Amino acid sequence: MQVCRTISDGRNTVATFRQAGESVGLVPTMGFLHAGHMELVAAAKARADRVVVTIFVNPTQFGDASDLDSYPRDEKRDLQMLEAAGVDMVLIPEVIDVYPEGDETIVETTRMANMLHGLVRPGHFRGVTTVVARLFNFVQPDLACFGEKDYQQLQIIKRMTRDLAFPIEIIGVPIVREADGLAMSSRNVRLNAEDRAAALIISQSLNAAEALTDKTVESLRETIAHTINSEPRATIHGLDIVQAETLNDISGVLTSPAAIMLSVEFGGVLLLDQRVIQP
Ligand code: AMP
Repeated sequence: MQVCRTISDGRNTVATFRQAGESVGLVPTMGFLHAGHMELVAAAKARADRVVVTIFVNPTQFGDASDLDSYPRDEKRDLQMLEAAGVDMVLIPEVIDVYPEGDETIVETTRMANMLHGLVRPGHFRGVTTVVARLFNFVQPDLACFGEKDYQQLQIIKRMTRDLAFPIEIIGVPIVREADGLAMSSRNVRLNAEDRAAALIISQSLNAAEALTDKTVESLRETIAHTINSEPRATIHGLDIVQAETLNDISGVLTSPAAIMLSVEFGGVLLLDQRVIQP
């Protein structure tokens, strides 16, 4: 496994894959890897000859510096996991390399970035699209894998890729969960024991919504809010039910797939979950 710490080193390594006529799959991450990330690696491996993983805690997608500073990191363990999974190259660029001095270029999906979760975290998705566009340029993969857990992010990246005509196939990978149903996240380690136990209410609320026989946007919303509000440790930050592809508002009886997007806070830690409900 090749570990590259500069963009030029990464490009040279990818060039050797290309010279051998091999296809390249990219998995962008912020590190502190878990089984969810490894599922993205497996999805890339199943579809491409070579797998490139990037580890970059992207400062432009964090609203406040303390969240950025407290983001968990463990590069040594990450590299062991990636090596064991048969990853071919890891790119770990420096911030100054990704955002050179005097940098002033951004990429933004103007509508999708400024709705839903983007209203709670202004500038977040602009940071995501700006860094992902750069990573796409550094690596120039044939395909890239993203988790459905970050559902709005996945739809935004699909839209950006289409709009800018990047010749890259975007693969969405279903959420990987802990045995008890909590969506895996690098942030889960920041939960104390009580909040970790209470956080189960998130996936339980989605199960309850999915089990409804009479599924309207209103009945889904009511069921989820009621279930989560029964847990005093939980604070709902976002509960959105939208058309699954456009993220547009919907109401009444479902006529096309709907995405439920949830962000719930436990003791200062914001957890995300999502589910697509068929009509
Ligand atoms: P992050 O390192 O949190 O930026 O995540 C990197 C990628 O892994 C993103 O595409 C996430 O959506 C994806 N991811 C994170 N957690 C999970 C999970 N539990 N299941 C599937 N994909 C995930």
